Amino acid sequence: MDSMELIRASERELAPYFEKLDETELILTKRVLDAFREERVSQRNFAGTTGYGYDDIGRDTLERIYARVFETEAALVRPHIMSGTHALALCLYGVLRPGDEMLAASGKPYDTLEEVIGIAGEKGAGSLADMGIGYRQVELKDGKLDIDAILANLTDSVKLVEIQRSRGYEWRDALTVADIDSAIDAIHAARPDVCVMVDNCYGEFTQLHEPKADLMAGSLNKNPGGGIARTGGYVAGKEKYVKLVSYRLTCPGVGGEIGSHPAGYLAMYQGLFMAPHVVNQAVKAAALAGEVFARAGYRVCPETGSERNDIIQAIEFDDPDKLIAFCRAIQRNSPVDSDAVPEPWDMPGYRHKIIMAAGTFMGGASIELSCDAPIKPPYIGYMQGALTYDHVKLAIEDALDSLV
Ligand SMILES: *Cc1c(COP(=O)(O)O)cnc(C)c1O
Repeated sequence: MDSMELIRASERELAPYFEKLDETELILTKRVLDAFREERVSQRNFAGTTGYGYDDIGRDTLERIYARVFETEAALVRPHIMSGTHALALCLYGVLRPGDEMLAASGKPYDTLEEVIGIAGEKGAGSLADMGIGYRQVELKDGKLDIDAILANLTDSVKLVEIQRSRGYEWRDALTVADIDSAIDAIHAARPDVCVMVDNCYGEFTQLHEPKADLMAGSLNKNPGGGIARTGGYVAGKEKYVKLVSYRLTCPGVGGEIGSHPAGYLAMYQGLFMAPHVVNQAVKAAALAGEVFARAGYRVCPETGSERNDIIQAIEFDDPDKLIAFCRAIQRNSPVDSDAVPEPWDMPGYRHKIIMAAGTFMGGASIELSCDAPIKPPYIGYMQGALTYDHVKLAIEDALDSLV
């Protein structure tokens, strides 16, 4: 079968699932649109501001819109939050105090948080460990949160429980919102004073609701930026916790009251408006890659038919050369830097050599088609993102051809 025939057969298989995704997109688009209308967004919200940024109407309105869309009490949405890792680190430093403990409830957190927690990296860098903040970890059980083990590890000093929704660089399904929400309920029933923080990176808008977390954080270079936002990150959740995070972002007392943005907020608004559609395209693209590569004989995760709670498709190549060839095909089929040839490199914050294909408009934006892979057996590529589904379809066709 030639590659395009394989793709067409996969699309026929996926058609009912794609219809379901379109229903989700419609509901989320309505929620976003309603928030824009309720906050009466107009041109004045997009203007840049300078200096301290007191009463920055573009910023304050955008934050209220995020809180409405994510169904939380408050949100902090800033160009000064530079990445998902930064947003997550702000949450940890904002809430935890010396003598407290953090409990990671979905196994080891995302690689870049290891140096923040202080389980990797230099001593004295200012990690949580350096500040006398303890750490413990509970593994997933059969790919789900192990609520009994989490409750058993809720010692008096645990003040924050971290849950990572997306698979990250792991061969596991993303956690479902239902699974996360029931863990949150169980934790709060035992310890209402514990802050449950969700690493929501890559999860936003894949389902009808976000987790009911005390705090969640993510990057505008991913889903909620809709491929339009030029930079930024967000934190959303309970008012009291968002305030603590804002104190960490600026300083106690000042919090979120300051912070100007001379470039203006247009791209962040437009990106959020586009996000339900762009995530729809990305989830369809991921599902297509999963089905196509499964048919071509590769192991994939998730498989067709499973509920998707992030935009990542993992494909196991079992061969470093094939993995590298796949990443190079993704790069070659990118609208930007199509002539670049990705090489494995030692990326700051990661433990293995990483190869990254990202021919993106926004530097490194992984809501745009991109592929990341640690160079280690069994040579799994993690593909994600799509501004348009058709783009990814073309890239997959070429990638298949180049692997034969
Ligand atoms: C991407 C990601 C992060 C880190 O976000 P950056 O913007 O790359 O710093 C953290 N957690 C998960 C699950 C991610 O996917």
